[in-house]
Amino acid sequence: MLWNSRSLLPIVGHDEMPSIRRFTMLLTITTEHAPATDLGFLLHKHPDNVRTVSFPFGDAHVFFPEAEVERCTAALLVEIDPVGLVRRRGRKGQESFTLAGYVNDRPFAASSFLSVVIGKMFGTAMTGRCDQRPELAATPLGFTVEVPVVPVRGGEPVLRSLFEPLGYEVEATPVPLDEAFPAWGASRYWSVRLTGVVRLAELLSHLYVLLPVLDDDKHYWVGEDEARKLLDKAGDWLGAHPERELISRRYLKHRRSLADDVLARLTDDAPDDQSSVDEERDLEEAQVEERISLNQRRLDAVTAAIVDTGASRVLDLGCGEGRLLAQLQKIPQIAQVTGADVSTRALDRAADRLHLDELSDRQRDRVALIQAGLTYRDARFAGFDAATLIEVIEHLDEPRLAALEQVVFAHAAPAMVIVTTPNREHNIRFASLPAGEFRHRDHRFEWTRAEFAQWAERVASIHGYKVRFAPIGDDDAEVGPPTQMAVFSR
Ligand code: SAH
Repeated sequence: MLWNSRSLLPIVGHDEMPSIRRFTMLLTITTEHAPATDLGFLLHKHPDNVRTVSFPFGDAHVFFPEAEVERCTAALLVEIDPVGLVRRRGRKGQESFTLAGYVNDRPFAASSFLSVVIGKMFGTAMTGRCDQRPELAATPLGFTVEVPVVPVRGGEPVLRSLFEPLGYEVEATPVPLDEAFPAWGASRYWSVRLTGVVRLAELLSHLYVLLPVLDDDKHYWVGEDEARKLLDKAGDWLGAHPERELISRRYLKHRRSLADDVLARLTDDAPDDQSSVDEERDLEEAQVEERISLNQRRLDAVTAAIVDTGASRVLDLGCGEGRLLAQLQKIPQIAQVTGADVSTRALDRAADRLHLDELSDRQRDRVALIQAGLTYRDARFAGFDAATLIEVIEHLDEPRLAALEQVVFAHAAPAMVIVTTPNREHNIRFASLPAGEFRHRDHRFEWTRAEFAQWAERVASIHGYKVRFAPIGDDDAEVGPPTQMAVFSR
């Protein structure tokens, strides 16, 4: 790989860019404090050497692309190994988490990997120990940190609210999602530069805690241990930080009891009654669409399409909390419904909604819930008359969508497939939705009618299906309906 030594961005051709974005993460720390090469002492790394350490998720390297008396830069490069990641098997509870992360492409974006690597590679420096230059370790020095690509949930305001109170100047530039698909808009990735005068140990502790908070999706299991780590690493500054609540909750992945515990120990304040962010996000989407109770109209339209064709065995892919399953369960024509989702939390809720515990044996045979990723061939997806993907495809990144197409249309290949997705053109009719934003923060794209039609017609022609389209919700003369549906049959 070539490096542009001024900006430290990898120099790659356009075709290579997605893989670079996905599989490597880079962070640099620069100082001009003279002699700048003392940075090597402070970090306990010799500027002439490359140090490599293997982690379960890939290799990490520390090296010094520049080491002059006037200016010295340490770079931390993490190469994520996606295969190793998937093969990795951890404690109970971790396995499904890895699966969930993998199918959603999250691990490649998760900056918590960077945080783990900082903890390991610069662990001693983070404690503030430096036998060779103790006075330097204890002195605030001018540093610049650059992270060319980092996912930030909430964008620039969140970035600023996290780093500015700690005394950093923040420069943030959005990274486009994909230059080849301008319609997809800005990504959740930012190129970030922080400048500040701090002790190196503080700087590392800020990065260690706040990088995963920016991304808001830690890749490993969060337990008591993480709460202890947070207090350990951030005890000095977190208590006074205006965003301490957001930091604790995101860092501890919205496990309220743990986050509350940390907050209580930091501030003695009773935490407010904020519900988990997942729920907030779903609520946001529900509020945006509420005006027309779109959700119910969607379920009705899908149910009618299924009933029309006489299907009796239905597979609901990405079933979420099981709203469609509950509705289908009431229809005598439906002999069996199976819901599949990667989220165990959603499946738990679906089990509640369907009252699985209370059903008679005969009724119990009519409904099944399975945990599955939709981008992997799965024998359990075979043998259905119809498969539904209700508001699911927009949650997948483009390469995963291609995998899903194979799984659904080539392998499972039921006689009928129903896909619904938001119609982006309609978003301007939602008063509460700021221009240009998606309806749900986890949406990777929202398509116009033309974009959806183009996708569906391509998929149908490749896999030997016919496809028809139908609006769901009020079909506005100008911008079309809020939801669009494609019904594939063969
Ligand atoms: N169909 C439901 C839920 C839509 S939300 C409804 O209309 O209410 C999207 C759902 O897809 C979520 O429950 C999410 O967990 C699931 N999902 C997203 N990507 C997935 C994947 N790759 N494999 C399995 N499920 C996935």
